[in-house]
Amino acid sequence: MVTPTTLLIATRNTHKTSEIQAMLGVAFHVLDLTSADFPEVAETGTTFLENATLKAVEISKLTDGIVLSDDSGLEVDALNGEPGVYSSRYAGTDGDNEANNAKLMSELGKLPATTDKSARFRCVMVIAENGERLAHFDGAVEGSIISELTGDKGFGYDPLFIPDGYEKTFAQLGDGVKNTLSHRAEALKQVIGWLANR
Ligand code: IMP
Repeated sequence: MVTPTTLLIATRNTHKTSEIQAMLGVAFHVLDLTSADFPEVAETGTTFLENATLKAVEISKLTDGIVLSDDSGLEVDALNGEPGVYSSRYAGTDGDNEANNAKLMSELGKLPATTDKSARFRCVMVIAENGERLAHFDGAVEGSIISELTGDKGFGYDPLFIPDGYEKTFAQLGDGVKNTLSHRAEALKQVIGWLANR
């Protein structure tokens, strides 16, 4: 039997970790920052790449082996790309999905009903080792925002986002579908290719 490669994900978002583990499969053993006493890394960057780099590089100084980080968020065209890098703290408190979704619905509700609701999830992944960034990857999925929370799977803005080509939200479609077409899936496919050629 082949021993799985251990990969530390620089996140405390266990939903992200389980999506990544499901997509990587049994060849990888995925751990995240909840597995040991890692410090907080402040996300002081203004781009997904800056924040993903900060997380992967800082954590890779504290552990042996490769660290993978994911910085992701939702860009809504009618809101000039907001919430963007501030997706997890859009309404003020980091990780308050309910408040973030309420703010998004409220901001879009202020615009004329005919406003185009196109949006995309973006994900930047960075691989680092011994305090050095080795590679970075970009993934995106296009879609649109609806006005009512729909579905109970997934996390974050999933109940408000319908990917192009579908009539259901990510929160209705669930991980089986989401993990074939999401921003994270797109970036992770490139990560897998990079790891295989390393
Ligand atoms: P990060 O942990 O700093 O990368 O922030 C990611 C934030 O973007 C999350 O807290 C969510 O609000 C949002 N987000 C990123 N990926 C997804 C997703 O797959 N579904 C729903 N929301 C997401």
